[in-house]
Amino acid sequence: MQKDDGAATTSAELRAHNLARLLRAIHEGGGQLTRAELTRRLSLARGTATVLVRDLAGRRLIEELTGPVDATAQRARGRPTGVPSAHAEGPVALAVDLRDDSYTVAAFELTGRGTVLDRAERDAGSGTEMLEEVAERLKIRCGQFDARVVGVGIAVPSPVRGGTMVQPTLPEWQDVDVTAALRPASACGPVLAGNDATLAGLAEARRGVLRGVPVALHLHVATGIGGVLLADGLPVTGAHGSAGEFGHMPLTGSDEPCRCGSTGCWELDAGARGLLRAAGQPEQGDRMLQAEQIIATAGTDRDSGRALALAARALGRGIGALVNAQDPEAVGLSGLAAEIFQADPGAVTAGYLSTLMRFRRDDPPALLPSTLGDLGALTGASELVFDAFLTPRGLAGWPAPGQKTA
Ligand SMILES: [Zn+2]
Repeated sequence: MQKDDGAATTSAELRAHNLARLLRAIHEGGGQLTRAELTRRLSLARGTATVLVRDLAGRRLIEELTGPVDATAQRARGRPTGVPSAHAEGPVALAVDLRDDSYTVAAFELTGRGTVLDRAERDAGSGTEMLEEVAERLKIRCGQFDARVVGVGIAVPSPVRGGTMVQPTLPEWQDVDVTAALRPASACGPVLAGNDATLAGLAEARRGVLRGVPVALHLHVATGIGGVLLADGLPVTGAHGSAGEFGHMPLTGSDEPCRCGSTGCWELDAGARGLLRAAGQPEQGDRMLQAEQIIATAGTDRDSGRALALAARALGRGIGALVNAQDPEAVGLSGLAAEIFQADPGAVTAGYLSTLMRFRRDDPPALLPSTLGDLGALTGASELVFDAFLTPRGLAGWPAPGQKTA
């Protein structure tokens, strides 16, 4: 008896493990891979795959659409293979992109398709009030999606330790625990917080220009510059989760004091702050908007053109230094970094090549502007949620008690 129980547990564990692997592969493939492709990719026996797919479908995690005719399967069996895709009533990750002056809430289904639900400006209200508003919006959205919501991911404009913003750009948020602030929305499941630039990089590695790149560096430029090194699609976030503050490295040779407490930081010369400084404009109001205006008028206004060239070169010089340090295969660029690169690729590239070590110059890692745009941080936040859900432990809670199975 004892021995049989042990064997049953092992086989149940194996099954749970395989279910999570298969669902993860469906998630990573964006619901585009056929059952035959998934079976090959995971080295499953065809019969095992059939049983697992049936199990996932029965639990309303996926539904199998009729896909293109798979040549191998057709030769063997003479029939088309199905495409396991997101179930219409399947799990949903809610994602929040929190910024100093606005927030966005979106819902992502299992295969990565996201829909923006709410977007609002802070206007005259405080940062605390805005977080309260986010919790309220989440509560409402959880009510709508009901037990389908498996968690909330939130991208914040600060390095994060645990769920706490340790050095936010908005002083009011200093040491605010985001997960505690969103407790009113606890019905949505676990709240997972991450730095916005880190999550933008995670999104590129999973769904964007860095997909399939074994070792990648991503840089996200807004008012400051953040980013992340990604190894096999996983962010390398340091001992406390706050690595990647590349903007606060003295990469461009100045020695002026920075708002962060250090001196000579890269973001003083590159990014929005660099653009404003180079254009001789004071930092006031919406710095991103000011920076974007400089980029937009660079072709017609001489001062703007000069400022763009200086900031673009500084951006490139810093990227070269980081490539020397990290040896990535490719460098993703999002936010203002993508805009600056697209507006003046020559200046960015010249700066980049000027700091690369000689042996790297023959085949420098490609600079790849993001294709996810504004959805980057949101997509990354949803990936945090699915990373937690797509495990044997996460799936054990699905469907939630009271949910019907098919
Ligand atoms: Zn700094």
